[in-house]
Amino acid sequence: MHTITQAPFGKTAAEQTVTAYTLANGSGVSATILNYGGVITQINVPDKAGNIANVTLGFDNFAQYEKESPYFGAICGRVANRIAKGKFTLDGKTYSLATNNGPNHLHGGNVGYNKKIWAASMLETSEGPSLKLALTDPDGNEGYPGTVQVAVTYTLVHATLRIVYTATTDKPTPINLTNHAYFNLKDGGKSDILSHVLQLCADNYTPVDATLIPIGQIASVKNTPIDFTSPKPIGRDIQAMGGYDHNLVLRSQDGTLAQAAIVTETTSGRRMEVWTTNPGVQLYTGNFLSGLKGPNGATYNQHHAVCLETQHFPNSINHPNFPSTILRPGETYHQVTEFRF
Ligand code: BGC
Repeated sequence: MHTITQAPFGKTAAEQTVTAYTLANGSGVSATILNYGGVITQINVPDKAGNIANVTLGFDNFAQYEKESPYFGAICGRVANRIAKGKFTLDGKTYSLATNNGPNHLHGGNVGYNKKIWAASMLETSEGPSLKLALTDPDGNEGYPGTVQVAVTYTLVHATLRIVYTATTDKPTPINLTNHAYFNLKDGGKSDILSHVLQLCADNYTPVDATLIPIGQIASVKNTPIDFTSPKPIGRDIQAMGGYDHNLVLRSQDGTLAQAAIVTETTSGRRMEVWTTNPGVQLYTGNFLSGLKGPNGATYNQHHAVCLETQHFPNSINHPNFPSTILRPGETYHQVTEFRF
């Protein structure tokens, strides 16, 4: 039986109503998503004993999302990840964006897609219950050129949460959308993820400078701490890189839906596969988490989650050798990511 239900989740400081939508289908997996930021507040997944629990970090009240969420479960855009110094040149014109992460622009700026109220519509599709979120991102917003129409659709297909992103523009613009869910398959973030076993479908990565901007090189992961070509506990080499916050170059670069990552956790027996049409995935191990209070007595600290942010490479707009993030009028941006449990 497919169901989609809605419940009030609070109000923004500007008195906009925040609603939580829950997709369920009898598979044991369910997902709850807000019209605020497209935030996934919960993905409930059974463990090997059949106990169902949330495997993503989040809050049980809206006030915390508005005040202190480090992009928990949120859609990031117009350009997810970093743009060096918040500057780029497109068709001969130079643009300046907000610098909200040291010297750089991060996840769309001061008020990114993660902080917007989206227009929600509930859909019953033949594959499963679905929530479509739509947003108009006006010309000049956060410094970006062109009005962009964005739609993000979440569908629960058996035990898979599928996210489909589409966008069109009326002026050339960079675009790069992702979902920033923080996963902890063991206990939803009460303890660290160092013993989670990760495999990435990536032989290369993009080395970064001290401000986490790629230096432009595509380097082999071989003989580096970020080699996850075979399954490896996340904690094994994590200190050698000061925590992971790096973009991996996925093996599949042709835009088809391909496997990007497999995460397993033995005490719970939970397993997640990530599939995407994107060329990259940012592996981020919650390095900056510190003392956030979650539901049920959880304290979200460093390395209590792993993010697998499927996307184009960071700062692509300033690296002509990276796959292009430029969307032009008449084209449609289209990406799919699936979290399969
Ligand atoms: C970035 C991190 C950043 C985090 C914010 C990640 O995508 O790579 O450096 O701290 O988002 O929560």
